[in-house]
Amino acid sequence: MKVKKQTRKEFLNDVSKLGAATLVGATWLSACSSPSGQSESSSAEAVSAPPTEPEPAAEEEPAPTQLAADACEDLSGLTEQELAMREQLKYVAQSEKEGQVCTNCRFWQAPETEGSCGGCQLIKGSIHPNGWCASWVAMPADAS
Ligand code: SF4
Repeated sequence: MKVKKQTRKEFLNDVSKLGAATLVGATWLSACSSPSGQSESSSAEAVSAPPTEPEPAAEEEPAPTQLAADACEDLSGLTEQELAMREQLKYVAQSEKEGQVCTNCRFWQAPETEGSCGGCQLIKGSIHPNGWCASWVAMPADAS
């Protein structure tokens, strides 16, 4: 089989046609990739971008109570052991921990009358709504 030898002029002409065809093809593909004219790669990035995490719910700040700080100091009727437990868990009637008070603790026992002293599942005796102890654990979100 005989191969036709290409002249330099014919070669340059072919290369020029190939370059023009490539340029037209790339422009056409780019224009057709999306209605807004965005390139295919940016659409792919938009699709493959990881879903954004939902904003975590802001920790609910407990409503301040109007109850006097010393309103829940009646410890009569408590045993030595129960009194020791209050001390052991470092219970205080006024929390110094930001966002942590008995009313948003999972062990809180709300009083029957709003604005009164409550109770605790761990510590016996009267518990101030603004109190705190070392066993504080956040109230589960589904609890009320
Ligand atoms: Fe308050 Fe502590 Fe009882 Fe929680 S465990 S309700 S912080 S006393």
